[in-house]
Amino acid sequence: MKILCIGRNYRDHATELGNAVPEEPVVFCKPDSAILQPRLPFVIPSWTADIHHEVEWVVRIGRVGKFIEPEFAWSYVDAMTVGLDFTARDLQSKLKSKGLPWEKAKGFDGSAVLGEWIKGPIEPGFHDISLLKNGTEVQAGNTRDFLFPLEDLIAHVSQYFTLKTGDLLFTGTPAGVGPVSHGDELEAKLDGKSLLRLRIR
Ligand code: ZN
Repeated sequence: MKILCIGRNYRDHATELGNAVPEEPVVFCKPDSAILQPRLPFVIPSWTADIHHEVEWVVRIGRVGKFIEPEFAWSYVDAMTVGLDFTARDLQSKLKSKGLPWEKAKGFDGSAVLGEWIKGPIEPGFHDISLLKNGTEVQAGNTRDFLFPLEDLIAHVSQYFTLKTGDLLFTGTPAGVGPVSHGDELEAKLDGKSLLRLRIR
């Protein structure tokens, strides 16, 4: 199983980090070991002083596909949820400034957190996502504001990576990313429904 992630898929988030709005999807991967096991807290690694939350709409791939046409993309999705793409922003900035790959800043153990799955069939449509930190909303977005809609993301990534059953696609984060600290409580919602609760240690 692999985890494909999209960067800078909301204009407001691309610009908040000072990045240009991309002309094609920005794609990176996390290893399967990045998934935080359910009900465990997220432990801030010792090698970073700046872990950021990124709340994202996550879809699961239900069958094998390559060179998927946009009009068939939704038929490859068998479940959806809301997730967190934890990012060591200090390390990512250092690596980016040297033109080096991001993996250590994005793919470390526990960096991919998943909410409860909503199982398919998943009809084409748009979804609200939001993140609360200690009860206060810090991120909110709707997938209609994607720079690249789901159809285009699946068509694009499947030109490079064969999609397999169980693969995950993190679709990018809206504006409002920020740091987490010891003791924080995070809650993520999909269409107003709470699907993920997490304590930071
Ligand atoms: Zn992300």
